[in-house]
Amino acid sequence: MAQNFKNYIAGEWVAGDAAIENRNPSDLSDVIGHYAQASSAQLDAALDAAHSAQREWAAYPLERKQNVLMAIGNELMARAEELGTLLSREEGKPFAEGKGEVFRAGQFFTYYAAEVLRQIGDTADSVRPGVEIDVRREPVGVVAVISPWNFPTATASWKIAPALAFGNAVIWKPANLTPASAYALTEIISRQDIPKGLFSLVMGSGGSVGQRLVESPAVNAISFTGSVPVGKGIAAAAIQNLTKVQMEMGSKNALAVMDDANLDLAVTLALGGAFGGTGQKCTASSRLVVHEGIHDAFVEKLVAGAQAMVVDHALKDGTQIGPVVSEGQLAENLAWVEKGRAEGAELACGGERLNRDTEGYYMSPGVFLNTTNQMEINREEMFAPLTSVIKVGSYDEALSVVNDTRFGLTSGIVTQSLARATHFRRNARTGVVTVNLPTAGTDYHVPFGGRGESSYGAREQGSYAAEFYTTVKTAYISAGAPE
Ligand code: NDP
Repeated sequence: MAQNFKNYIAGEWVAGDAAIENRNPSDLSDVIGHYAQASSAQLDAALDAAHSAQREWAAYPLERKQNVLMAIGNELMARAEELGTLLSREEGKPFAEGKGEVFRAGQFFTYYAAEVLRQIGDTADSVRPGVEIDVRREPVGVVAVISPWNFPTATASWKIAPALAFGNAVIWKPANLTPASAYALTEIISRQDIPKGLFSLVMGSGGSVGQRLVESPAVNAISFTGSVPVGKGIAAAAIQNLTKVQMEMGSKNALAVMDDANLDLAVTLALGGAFGGTGQKCTASSRLVVHEGIHDAFVEKLVAGAQAMVVDHALKDGTQIGPVVSEGQLAENLAWVEKGRAEGAELACGGERLNRDTEGYYMSPGVFLNTTNQMEINREEMFAPLTSVIKVGSYDEALSVVNDTRFGLTSGIVTQSLARATHFRRNARTGVVTVNLPTAGTDYHVPFGGRGESSYGAREQGSYAAEFYTTVKTAYISAGAPE
């Protein structure tokens, strides 16, 4: 019998009005559990409790707050294998990626544990004689965290950790496709020395619990990662209450491969960037912009490499690509394959549903050739194990294709030319740019975010996160009249 898992609201574990079933996309006969769906009244109770808990938490001594974040981070890292297994079981990414994600989530907490002690303001003399100025950051208040399924633990952690470090309360609405990872992280947080109600987990659908949360005037800030249409809806709801909002959304990242590139490196970066996480990454290399001088050799190795990749159960040894996350996502992916073909792209390999020992949402990695940047497969985010090659005649053309998108999250160049690498780094219109590295894979102590429809609002991660999770107060101080 699969277990029932509750929400954590105002410091108590509570059953919901309803529950959803969570099944393993690698093996549909494996039911991971049933997860409570929060009611409107429960969400309101979480919001009510959060405000007073936040004031109490903000007043905690620094080291007491620091200890809480450190303990969460250390436990995540120590349990990376166990929780990574759970993550891979429900999301479908290969075990090494699941374990790596949980470990990285722990690093977000330990990094922000240190940031608790690094909250240093500014001082200045006033233009008025005898007056001094103190500028410092204060918590923004109650933060709604709305996270996606593709990095269920890491994305939530890079929002929750800074929110807590800067003295805020958190109401977390995770994606309904990955509730087990959300429950596991919440269980760790619930055992810490925090005020009752500081942190609440409200599992439920985006359209009901999520929508009510973002419309609530009791929320002071919303941090969201997900799709562009949902992001636009959240921004529209937030503006009604003038709620601060930060959003990471879609992307159409390009990896430019120059004729002077190391061929094997370029192929390795393209395969990892395109098919890591089953292509379900906001940083995925979904456009490969390849110089004609290297095109044929690159394509030959790329297609052979894609065909050799092992697609199987996420927890099986040797699996390189796990299943797609859900039936709906798989159907969309297969529809993209048909759309690409109809647009005139040549499918060199993959793009087909696969059968394995266990019933799951398996799909072979697909490579489109002879594509143009105007095709829909090169303009819309697919979130699939699919990538397109776009042939170009020069570096300048490559840069212009890379930048010809309404998104702007990451871009990369593979080249041995310092001049091209430098020019690309300075002229690619993305929030993250890489040189001889994959477009996916970023650090945790520096800012992350994009331009155009990829991001909105202040940057996430590193010390830049302070901009979103705090508000600035400028104090003027006079010693008063001399005695
Ligand atoms: P969504 O944008 O629908 O979901 C992201 C999060 O927002 C989930 O927690 C979801 O909850 C929640 N949500 C949905 N609707 C609302 C709402 N009206 N108000 C508040 N919260 C809401 O993404 P999907 O999971 O449906 O994925 C669809 C596509 O989005 C993908 O194919 C991909 O292209 C893109 N995407 C991009 C991501 C990125 O990292 N850039 C991450 C995830 C998706 P719930 O899941 O419970 O409905």
